[in-house]
Amino acid sequence: MRRVSVFGATGSVGENTLDLIARRGDCQVVALSGGRNVARLAELARAHRAELAITAHEECHAELKSALAGSGIEVAAGAAALIEAASRPADWVMSAIVGAAGLAPGFAALAQGGVLALANKESLVSAGALLKAEAARHGATILPVDSEHSAVFQALVGEDIAAVEKVTLTASGGGLRDWPLEQLARATPADAGQHPNWAMGQRITIDSASMFNKAMEVIEAREFFGLAPAQIEVLIHPQSLVHALVGFRDGAVMAHLGAPDMRHPIGYALNWPQRAPLPVARLDLAQAARLDFHLPDPVRYPALGLAWQVMETGGSAGAVFNAAREAALDAFIGGQIGFLDMARLVSLTLESFARSDDISREPASLGEVLETDKEARRRAAALVGALPRCGAV
Ligand code: NDP
Repeated sequence: MRRVSVFGATGSVGENTLDLIARRGDCQVVALSGGRNVARLAELARAHRAELAITAHEECHAELKSALAGSGIEVAAGAAALIEAASRPADWVMSAIVGAAGLAPGFAALAQGGVLALANKESLVSAGALLKAEAARHGATILPVDSEHSAVFQALVGEDIAAVEKVTLTASGGGLRDWPLEQLARATPADAGQHPNWAMGQRITIDSASMFNKAMEVIEAREFFGLAPAQIEVLIHPQSLVHALVGFRDGAVMAHLGAPDMRHPIGYALNWPQRAPLPVARLDLAQAARLDFHLPDPVRYPALGLAWQVMETGGSAGAVFNAAREAALDAFIGGQIGFLDMARLVSLTLESFARSDDISREPASLGEVLETDKEARRRAAALVGALPRCGAV
């Protein structure tokens, strides 16, 4: 039996992962983690006969314990328990906690030397060099789960990365793609939380509308594939059927196409290095009829350009960027700032670090990354009140 764990099991990626794990029928589920959705975590733990269920929140411990009473499933709670669970022997671990909270469990899982399927893009953006070094130290493999990065990974099978000229990541343009520019400042979290093509968690859906998600993915692609910033471009592709393109030095371009369903990249990572049948819709190009592409408008998507600023700075800039993005998203969801204020807030936080700290220096440890993350959240929160509003929420 293959031993597998899923962190962020109650989320969109986590649920899809468990669906595929159940279909394989050859996996022993070691650990499942969730956050506040304790009832769902308990249901999943029972359905998949997990050895251990962990809620990230200490205050949810009693509720989880009572929900799993009599099941024989071990119960734990809190950040340290997540790390302990990730340290238990497993051949394959899904990292699908949302946000920087996913960093430490991912690092702990790498020490097992197995496969870390990485949906938590925050890990590579905030601590890419450290994460790769940790994987190398333990002989572990990191596989991409983001659909664009899985697409690039698949296009690179059997290829020499030195022969790559350019990688193109596609973007749907998000739920506000067709809104008039002058109305964007008034977009609410409910408006931005609708995605035209993909079914995803609320946070990543809003990040798709602002293109913060694509900015994260650009940095993630640089880290994952060791690309120079100038080798990465983004194209808006409203149909979300082409997930990425890789251009080689002989002029050939390999594109990865498929229906927009996260079970494809998750399944690829689960079955890697083989391919196995997956319950995903088949691509019907005759029905799709057309594939459109255009460059993103930097005025409509100010967050996207910040990715190149972060990559040029290097060092801890990714950790500052991610923490400020999460703080800006919280402030937008909480009604404290408007939709377009999110990019301004992140930009101001980066500026504040550029003035006072040497963020171009590589962090020496995960602890240092988490300290930077904390400080960036503190500064972003302080800036929220001082931000002249771009528009009403
Ligand atoms: P969801 O919001 O659907 O799920 C997030 C998961 O993380 C839930 O299990 C949630 O628990 C848990 N969680 C939330 N806060 C914490 C915390 N502080 N500590 C520990 N666990 C926590 O997110 P998605 O599944 O959409 O995304 C997960 C990750 O995968 C993100 O990094 C995202 O960027 C990435 N990703 C997602 C894609 C998608 O299609 N959804 C595509 C590519 C990447 P609970 O709900 O119980 O509170």
